[in-house]
Amino acid sequence: MLDSIRTRLTLWYTGVLAVVIVFLSVVAYFIFWRSAVQRTDANLVELSNSFLVTLRAELEDQTGPDVFRTAAQVAIDEHHFRDTLYVIADQTGKVILTSLETPAANGPLKIAREVLSSASFQSFLRDSLRSDRLFGHIPVTEAGYRGFAQRFSAKGKSYTLIILQSLHPQKEMMEEAGSVFAWLIPVAILLASGGGYFLARKSLAPVVAMSSQAESIGAANLHERLAVQNERDELGHLARSFNGLLDRLAESFERQRRFMADASHELRTPVAILRGESEVALSQQARSLEEYRESLGVLHHEAERLTRIVEDLFTLTRADAGQYPLQPRDFYLDDLIAECVHSARTLAQAKKISLTFEGAPESPIHADESLLRRMLLNLLDNAIKYTPDFGRVTVNCHGHGKEYMLSISDTGRGIPEELRPRIFERFFRADKARSRSEGDGGGAGLGLAISRWIAEAHHGRLELIRSDSTGSTFAAYLPADSGYSASPG
Ligand code: ADP
Repeated sequence: MLDSIRTRLTLWYTGVLAVVIVFLSVVAYFIFWRSAVQRTDANLVELSNSFLVTLRAELEDQTGPDVFRTAAQVAIDEHHFRDTLYVIADQTGKVILTSLETPAANGPLKIAREVLSSASFQSFLRDSLRSDRLFGHIPVTEAGYRGFAQRFSAKGKSYTLIILQSLHPQKEMMEEAGSVFAWLIPVAILLASGGGYFLARKSLAPVVAMSSQAESIGAANLHERLAVQNERDELGHLARSFNGLLDRLAESFERQRRFMADASHELRTPVAILRGESEVALSQQARSLEEYRESLGVLHHEAERLTRIVEDLFTLTRADAGQYPLQPRDFYLDDLIAECVHSARTLAQAKKISLTFEGAPESPIHADESLLRRMLLNLLDNAIKYTPDFGRVTVNCHGHGKEYMLSISDTGRGIPEELRPRIFERFFRADKARSRSEGDGGGAGLGLAISRWIAEAHHGRLELIRSDSTGSTFAAYLPADSGYSASPG
């Protein structure tokens, strides 16, 4: 259950909300309590002032032996309320008169006595002698009493009036508020968690819908996409990213499918020739040695062709997977070109093609020599293959900033303009029939794809920079120090 984001969100939300509500309630409770105490204090001050006014008036009116006591008694009678206690002490702290002696004081006498005899009242009384006005708390009963002491003088003597007021009604009110909070808070949290669950459910519903849509997408229906409800929100962004991923996957699947289809198609021809030739050779009882040699020659030629195609496929697959480790080392590019031109000379001579390399200044390079050799031989092979007899193939190399520009020009028929963008594609041949039937080792259309990968793996590039009826020129741009890369760029 906790594995569901919906539940976790709701729990988090409820937990945070509960902490906030409880915290606010506690704060509110203390604020109320403080203001209740402040109101009591104001009330005590008012009581004290009006008591002193009455006392002073009575002192004027009264006659007799103990004028002060009688006047004070009258003032207490007049101002005495339930839950209020009056105490008058002289300047030594001796209690002269209390409201306990007032007949009107029919409040809980026992409690009142307890309060006045308590240690905390005695200590408040002592403290009050040292100041003119003093507030204090006398924690005797459960709610306690709030006390106010005020010094006054009468008939030339100094006295202290102390009024104590029970905090029982305030405490009761706070308890009532507390019990309301006690049921209101859980109900509020419960309602809020219900709302939170509803909200979490509602906001996660598109995710649930997306995941069930995503679950139903497989290799068979890779063209399907997630519905994007609102392009601009986070979920819309997620859906678009997911759809983008599906686009890329579909494209890559399609490329692989085409690659497999093309590869098997390419392999089928040499395999069919191998089978056909060997079946014919085996079916004939008596054959001359010459005929056997001829058959073996055909078999050998096709086996070589198969080997080349398989090797090329293997190279491309490893390059795609980023698993073709380059083995760069320092060597001279001009030497490598001279070497490759030398190797291709036999091919050129067979077609009476003049193959020239005008030489190049010393061109040190840090690269994978065998891969660059392969690229050069591919380009030379193509130039000779697609140039008619008695044509011309020219190789050039010169520095171009921090890179070398290596060009191979021929005097072939050129490549039709509409096909030029496609010649670097895998298995692409401008003239499929011709390539294979000429018996010139016509490739499978992988040579340029591999050559381009080689240039790019060296952080360079391979381009067809000219092609018209007078011939074509391929140019490879290679950095002098290409660093290292194992996959096409
Ligand atoms: P292939 O094995 O067929 O030579 P490539 O990938 O090397 O495959 O070349 C792809 C196609 O590009 C070739 O089939 C050919 O039509 C065209 N091509 C490549 N090089 C040349 C060139 N120098 N002149 C004319 N056409 C070329």
